[in-house]
Amino acid sequence: MKPPSQTNAIDFDSAKLQRLGFGQQPPLLERPVSLAQLRQQLSLQLQTSLEPQRILGTFYREIQRMVPLDALCYLHKSSDLRLEFGQRGHHSISYSLSHEGEHLGELIFRRNQRFSEQEQGNLESLLAALLFPMRNALLYRTATQSALRDPLTGTGNRIAMDQTLQREIELSRRHLQPLSVLMLDIDHFKQVNDTHGHSTGDDVLQAVAASIKNQLRNVDMVFRYGGEEFLILLSNTCREAAAMVGERLRFAVQSEEYLADGHTILLTVSLGCSTLLPGESADSLLRRADSALYVAKREGRNRLEMAG
Ligand code: GH3
Ligand code: MG
Ligand code: MG
Repeated sequence: MKPPSQTNAIDFDSAKLQRLGFGQQPPLLERPVSLAQLRQQLSLQLQTSLEPQRILGTFYREIQRMVPLDALCYLHKSSDLRLEFGQRGHHSISYSLSHEGEHLGELIFRRNQRFSEQEQGNLESLLAALLFPMRNALLYRTATQSALRDPLTGTGNRIAMDQTLQREIELSRRHLQPLSVLMLDIDHFKQVNDTHGHSTGDDVLQAVAASIKNQLRNVDMVFRYGGEEFLILLSNTCREAAAMVGERLRFAVQSEEYLADGHTILLTVSLGCSTLLPGESADSLLRRADSALYVAKREGRNRLEMAG
């Protein structure tokens, strides 16, 4: 006979987590009795999030129970991450965090008053609590970012595009700001493949994506829509300004010489532009940009057309 088994439902709501010591601490900064205690509290709190912003925000707030600060800056170049808390200060101490050869970022603590040796020792000891939570957060970031990126061009993929477009439409409505999109397609790209091979075609695609990104302020808003087609989201951008960005992109691609196994290739792109109408859906916005692109192709390519 099987032993009776029992399943207990356990919901870790905020109140329960708070009682167990995992919750947010009250904003009043009571000084802890010891460094060891603060370290222990920190390790519990820092493992409750995978967001670098939140982990470092908690760290910045909590360590001030021991070492008052004016600012904290965190940098991790390879994941394009830069976070700042507080204001600037005259004095600074920097640490480069690493674990078993893995670089986990740089931290700069700032304040107007000089740091004492004891405070420096405390900071170093408290930094240990940040190590594993930051490593996990960076790993998580890499994983989620690669799920949202097109591996060939490094632009956003369709999943990222759908999410971002939905969010931008909501923001545009809430703040009553214009939102425009550009649909860009490389002209006669099939010829590049046919003449130079698919692998050269891939290189050229990468180079075109890089030219596009070079021209834009926010590279997170470029998406690979299809094979040789990109969508560029322009937040807070009206029809006229979007047309100017589109022309700039068209000119940038046209001016560049793309190198393909010793040959230079000249390329052009065609673009369709649409601006969000009141109450319009994402699908309709894209459809109008696509129709405008179709007109640009029909009218001879290497041109921008505005949706009606
Ligand atoms: P148009 O000016 O009308 O846009 O002509 P086109 O030749 O660019 O358009 P078409 O749709 O006929 O062909 C697109 C080509 O893009 C065909 C396809 O093989 C190529 N392509 C799509 N994705 C990739 C890719 O990832 N790598 C490479 N090398 N080629 C790709
Ligand atoms: Mg094409
Ligand atoms: Mg195409």
